Amino acid sequence: PTRVLTGITTSGTPHLGNYVGAIRPAIAASREPGVESYYFLADYHALIKVQDPARVQRSTLEIAASWLACGLEPDQVRFYRQSDIPETTELTWLLTCVAGKGILNRAHAYKAAVDRNREAGEDDDAGVTAGLFMYPVLMAADILLFNAHKVPVGRDQIQHIEMARDFAQRFNHLYGEHFVLPEVVIEEQVATLPGLDGRKMSKSYDNTIPLFAPRGELRKLIYSIVTDSRAPGEAKDADTSNVFQLYRAFASTGETSAMRQAFADGIAWGDAKAALFERIDAEVAPLREKYEALIAQPAQIEEILRAGAARLREERALPTLRALRDAVGLRN
Ligand code: ATP
Repeated sequence: PTRVLTGITTSGTPHLGNYVGAIRPAIAASREPGVESYYFLADYHALIKVQDPARVQRSTLEIAASWLACGLEPDQVRFYRQSDIPETTELTWLLTCVAGKGILNRAHAYKAAVDRNREAGEDDDAGVTAGLFMYPVLMAADILLFNAHKVPVGRDQIQHIEMARDFAQRFNHLYGEHFVLPEVVIEEQVATLPGLDGRKMSKSYDNTIPLFAPRGELRKLIYSIVTDSRAPGEAKDADTSNVFQLYRAFASTGETSAMRQAFADGIAWGDAKAALFERIDAEVAPLREKYEALIAQPAQIEEILRAGAARLREERALPTLRALRDAVGLRN
């Protein structure tokens, strides 16, 4: 089978971008024949950005409940919390010792931090933790631990998959063929959703629409999306509109062309937002009900996660690390 890996960072409440960009396509893909799906809650990754333990815990529960509410079947897939598989961190060290520092210097997240510092007249590395610098190695460990063949990601993540391939290749060259070289899968038809302020919707920007916001809050948030000041009756540009980008991610092709026409005809922002709210709510309302029932049973979710990790450690993580320890000369 083709092993496909998807993770969501437990850095906050899951949002519509996570749903459209990760959860919805990953669950659809898991139902295809010949696919072995791995879904994980990236809580080691969360620590790079979030130093609030309650937030990490809450987020873990919310993201787990979201996957389950959206139809993930824990018996049919591999579903686990990253930190329940400590072999991940051990593999991270083995990979750290073959990873070129120069390659990590070029990672987007690190370079962006350096650029911000330079603009502010600070030292290049001011406020940059080694965790941020090293995070492509942790991500490579997530992928290589289970020898995932495919990793569906957004464009901004292509570089990280290339790094994982590079580390795997160096390791294989030194110690024998242990790792499959993972392939990046760019989901061309999967949109990157804008957040309330027009930047990419992201837990880190506080600009999100939570996937399972209660109906009233969902409506309020949608009405707060930033728009331009064109009046009702004035033609509006669908392609630059956040409202339209969001609508398109939830609507059929027919509904989308009708909305494009309505924009050209000068639909009022209030009416466009009302249509957007109705469209999103129609899709998420049945899932929201399941989510609310699940989140009220945290012990049950915990049990699913523990069972998922226990099985994976036994079947794969422990034997893999045993072989890798042997390969590099550590005692087993
Ligand atoms: P963080 O700010 O902590 O990185 P995030 O909300 O930006 O969080 P991640 O947890 O890093 O998202 O990403 C999980 C998955 O959700 C990834 O597959 C990513 O491509 C997808 N995703 C995140 N934001 C969006 C978005 N705005 N539109 C589409 N997909 C998104």
